[in-house]
Amino acid sequence: MASTFFRRIAKATPVSFAGEPRSTFGAIAAVTGGISYLYYYNSPNLAHLEEVKVEGSPKVALNPDKWIEFKLQDTARVSHNTHLFRFSFDPAAKLGLDIASCIITRAPIGQDAEGKTKYVVRPYTPISDPDSKGYFDLLIKVYPEGKMSQHFATLKSGDVVEVKGPIEKLRYSPNMKKHIGMIAGGTGITPMLQVIEAILKNTDDNTQVSLLYANVSPDDILLKQKLDFLAASHPNLKIFYTVDNPSKNWKGGSGYISKDMVVKGLPGPSDDTLILVCGPPGMMKHISGDKAKDRSQGELTGLLKEAGYTEEMVYKF
Ligand SMILES: Cc1cc2nc3c(=O)[nH]c(=O)nc-3n(C[C@H](O)[C@H](O)[C@H](O)COP(=O)(O)OP(=O)(O)OC[C@H]3O[C@@H](n4cnc5c(N)ncnc54)[C@H](O)[C@@H]3O)c2cc1C
Repeated sequence: MASTFFRRIAKATPVSFAGEPRSTFGAIAAVTGGISYLYYYNSPNLAHLEEVKVEGSPKVALNPDKWIEFKLQDTARVSHNTHLFRFSFDPAAKLGLDIASCIITRAPIGQDAEGKTKYVVRPYTPISDPDSKGYFDLLIKVYPEGKMSQHFATLKSGDVVEVKGPIEKLRYSPNMKKHIGMIAGGTGITPMLQVIEAILKNTDDNTQVSLLYANVSPDDILLKQKLDFLAASHPNLKIFYTVDNPSKNWKGGSGYISKDMVVKGLPGPSDDTLILVCGPPGMMKHISGDKAKDRSQGELTGLLKEAGYTEEMVYKF
């Protein structure tokens, strides 16, 4: 369960773990605008990670035209089927990601008839602060039959993954809308986190954010401690959780995201509103209709259409 690994979310700045208590727990720090969220989990490797300050503009690690090898530094289990992967690179460089963007990864899966390496290629959305230097984090759900996610699950510290990017999805600019609504399912939280953290770290950004986050059970909710901490410390972030299988003491919603949840939990249809949606195909169909085959936005259908939103007010990741 996430809480086992994410032992503490603390306020501290700047980041330095030299003074942290020595235990079997290592730490990952995601630095956002003076706030450091410390995630503790079983690894000593990151115990003395420090933010590196460099003069002038930082170098950029990603190249949109070239596959670059990134070394796996550490992993952490976030839920029974989802893991956090930290990759490292030049500590003087940033990853080079604008909000909201993803990267593509590739891994060799054998050879074709001519002996040429065959690759599986999949996109993922980094959830570390784009201003962090020397590392980035991916949150990946491992599917029993998943080609790439199973490959990730076999990686050990020091192994490399080839990465290309960034691929820009939605160009976020501060205060572009008064109120942003978000509907996420499972790992669909990753692009939402990018946007949420960009808004919250910028004190000049007055955007209100309302997130509806759907999962199978309370234990499947990814990064709940972090999300709850962000909501508790930022009045412009509101979160409503719903799960298919609630536990006895569950206090959030139950069942799939409903029209009632949308009406009560999200900003109403307006030119000042944008609703971001990301989740598994079944959920996308139910909420907004899936993207088109060519990966363009496609027609808006589902609950959001019924609730009166137009295509201009909705973005499907
Ligand atoms: C822009 C973008 C960003 C993404 N970011 C992330 C991210 O940050 N984290 C993350 O975990 N994933 C993310 N994904 C999904 C990711 O790219 C892969 O599709 C996913 O990891 C499955 O790939 P795979 O090779 O393991 O499974 P595949 O070999 O493609 O699929 C094998 C089987 O796994 C199951 N499966 C695969 N995908 C799904 C799904 N979405 N819902 C239900 N069952 C499924 C199905 O049973 C399928 O038959 C993103 C996708 C996109 C398009």
